[in-house]
Amino acid sequence: MTELTGWGRYPRHRSEALRPASPKALPLLMASRTGLVARGNGRAYGDAAIGERVTLLATGLDRIQAFDPATGRVSVEAGVLLSDLLNVVVPHGFFLPVVPGTKFVTIGGMIASDVHGKNHHRDGGFGDHVEKLTLALPDGSTVACSREENPELLAATIGGMGLTGTILDATFRLRSIETGWMRQTTTVARNLDDAIRALQETSNATYSVAWVDCLARGAALGRSLIFAAEHATLRDLDALRPDAEPYPASKLGRLAVPLDLPSFTLNRLSVSAFNEFYFRAGAVKSGYPFLVHWDPYFFPLDGIGNWNRIYGRRGFLQYQCVVPTAQARSALGSILERVSKHGSASFLAVLKQLGPGHGNLSFPLEGFTLTLDLPVSDEAFPLLDELDRLVVEARGRLYLAKDARQSPATFEAGYPGLPRFRDQRRAIGATGRISSRLSVRLGI
Ligand SMILES: Cc1cc2nc3c(=O)[nH]c(=O)nc-3n(C[C@H](O)[C@H](O)[C@H](O)COP(=O)(O)OP(=O)(O)OC[C@H]3O[C@@H](n4cnc5c(N)ncnc54)[C@H](O)[C@@H]3O)c2cc1C
Repeated sequence: MTELTGWGRYPRHRSEALRPASPKALPLLMASRTGLVARGNGRAYGDAAIGERVTLLATGLDRIQAFDPATGRVSVEAGVLLSDLLNVVVPHGFFLPVVPGTKFVTIGGMIASDVHGKNHHRDGGFGDHVEKLTLALPDGSTVACSREENPELLAATIGGMGLTGTILDATFRLRSIETGWMRQTTTVARNLDDAIRALQETSNATYSVAWVDCLARGAALGRSLIFAAEHATLRDLDALRPDAEPYPASKLGRLAVPLDLPSFTLNRLSVSAFNEFYFRAGAVKSGYPFLVHWDPYFFPLDGIGNWNRIYGRRGFLQYQCVVPTAQARSALGSILERVSKHGSASFLAVLKQLGPGHGNLSFPLEGFTLTLDLPVSDEAFPLLDELDRLVVEARGRLYLAKDARQSPATFEAGYPGLPRFRDQRRAIGATGRISSRLSVRLGI
């Protein structure tokens, strides 16, 4: 038995961790055990990638099976890391159609969470780009899923948090890029109204995201920096950085957090000093476009190894909700007011606009999503229960890949596709056989 956690290092559970010797051995393992779920690179924050009894470690499925630089179509085993795939495809002028905020995730994990990027409002979730995949079912059989073959099972597996089976491999199309640079423009928003308006106004940009100062209050509540960006063209590179490599290699992180920091390191004073610095530095760059390397643009935190240790040994909770556009101003305003009053040490929150979603357990819905971090503490739980109430009232939902503590009632209110998903699990014999700590906690 091994003690496992997600990226937030809360909660901790013991589970038998099994690493299949080969992709062929994985379905047989599935047939021989119950209470299991697949685990990719463990970047979900809570308990989604911890099996009720057994956790199947899928990172050994790490072969890139085919890559056609003429069409940008790629087939990979599900344990391939996004970071490794990017190192192969960027020099050929390709990028993934959707990426999350870290490159240390597996393709299987990206499909199971139907991850969204800074371009969801334009390009949908990663699952929208998957052409086909192979799924290992609880009885040890394998099944091909595409829009033509088993489309219902494909749809349930996208965003299905590993609960329909284990993804063995997947095929999808890459996006072609002229350079590995991003042309970014920064806008300053004085408060939440401004930020929502600015995100709506920049929705024709391929990528857009707002970093919100969670400690700002009163008239400045929700003050933000909005970053909009496009993949830079060769002409942009010529104009703004003529000496730069068109396809720069990935950046290796040079900093690391070597040990769990004591909990007093993060307090209202240190966080507000950091936020003040961050906002001044960002505001100076506002108004004119500049080029940013693809790696720090998409994956800013990956440059700091083990950054999850800054929250100390008890770990931290990431809270990500989405609320429909019509309710965004009032619900997110109430959430930020409570967080700011609480003074809990969320450095910066991230605000994004999402386009319509689909799928039974997939997170996105048309509206605005807010993400914040809180260290685990006795006060954090009642605060988050209160935020849940506001999200449910606004007919929103919480992201399962970030969740470690929501109640079954909050979950059921947010995911009307749940009964359909349960039926699909029953039909393939997954109920009771494929289960994670998350699925047990939420009664999925
Ligand atoms: C710094 C950071 C930034 C992030 N930013 C974003 C973001 O911008 N957008 C976003 O959407 N998410 C984001 N995430 C969340 C992350 O993208 C997802 O949790 C992703 O699923 C993690 O992939 P993983 O390989 O680590 O999977 P794990 O964490 O190991 O597993 C996640 C889920 O996928 C299932 N799974 C994993 N592999 C398989 C498989 N082969 N077959 C079936 N199921 C499988 C697991 O059972 C589990 O339910 C972020 C996470 C971090 C740490």
